[in-house]
Amino acid sequence: MHRHSLLVTSISMDLIGFIGLGKMGRPMATNLCRKGSRLVVYDVNREPVNELARLGAEAASGFADLSSRADIVFTMLPDSPVVEEVVTGRDGVLANLRAGSVVVDMSTIDPRVTDRLGAAASAKGIGFADAPVGRLASHADRGESLFMVGAEAGVFARIKPLLDLMGTTIYHCGGVGSGMRTKLINNFLAIVSCEMNAEAIALSQRFGLSLETTLNVIHGTTATNGQLKMAWATKVFTGDVEPGFTIDLAHKDLSLIVDAANAAKVPVPIAAVAREAYSAARGQGHGGKDFSAMVDVACDLAAIAKPRFAQPTT
Ligand code: NAD
Repeated sequence: MHRHSLLVTSISMDLIGFIGLGKMGRPMATNLCRKGSRLVVYDVNREPVNELARLGAEAASGFADLSSRADIVFTMLPDSPVVEEVVTGRDGVLANLRAGSVVVDMSTIDPRVTDRLGAAASAKGIGFADAPVGRLASHADRGESLFMVGAEAGVFARIKPLLDLMGTTIYHCGGVGSGMRTKLINNFLAIVSCEMNAEAIALSQRFGLSLETTLNVIHGTTATNGQLKMAWATKVFTGDVEPGFTIDLAHKDLSLIVDAANAAKVPVPIAAVAREAYSAARGQGHGGKDFSAMVDVACDLAAIAKPRFAQPTT
């Protein structure tokens, strides 16, 4: 614990409540405990509660018991209904916490529920933060999680030393609800890319291509190296939509891909939907622009201003 002793002295006054000790919550609570926090824990499943108790945490009999003792309560629960019931339900966390304490929800839930929880906490003089987690359970095990935090500045400052015990990368995204909304953007990309990758790799296998060589090729191009990070950062986000590679050509290539996949009886639903989005952009007269301008087309459809960096990056 002695490596963390400076940190411990600044946070050891608070008793930390932790509700939800599943695949993510258990390693996170374990890190808090091992690194010197005073912990009181609860889960409907007794087994991880007993395990944490063996590490020195106090075992609560329920979330009411836990909240009547804790100064800061973390929740790491499955979904919106469970979080809402535990936090704002009858005899739940908010009903038992003292004014001046803080609730930190690390689950992934509906951001409108997050807003309601934040308002309910605020009405009782209790601080609230949403701190959903990027990365996987294996990172949580090693204390290497990424947190996207939505909270007022004072609440963020209070919980940051604890998040530092569970993670390596902490972003303050804005007020309550902004962490959860950032998480949805993150997972939108992560999950849709997963399906897109799946379609592409399935088609490569139907084509009889070598998996290794295909990966070598796509790891050396923008296929996997980040439209957002590399291509868009120097093109559309700076207002430059000069091609590059045009929307017309991207549409032609997607048509080749969908046709070839159809001929080979490999379904590629993401590719087909994307092809139609490019087709719509061409219909609106954007075919000659760089394909990064697809983001402008998406924003126009929703009457949103074009996304541009606030300052020139160079
Ligand atoms: P999990 O199902 O493993 O854990 C949830 C825990 O909550 C379980 O231990 C369960 O017994 C407990 N629980 C359920 N209802 C309860 C109640 N009323 N009172 C007390 N405890 C209760 O889920 P997880 O994988 O740890 O995920 C938790 C949250 O984190 C989810 O919202 C998930 O989307 C998100 N998340 C998960 C991962 C991941 O890789 N597993 C990564 C990032 C975010």
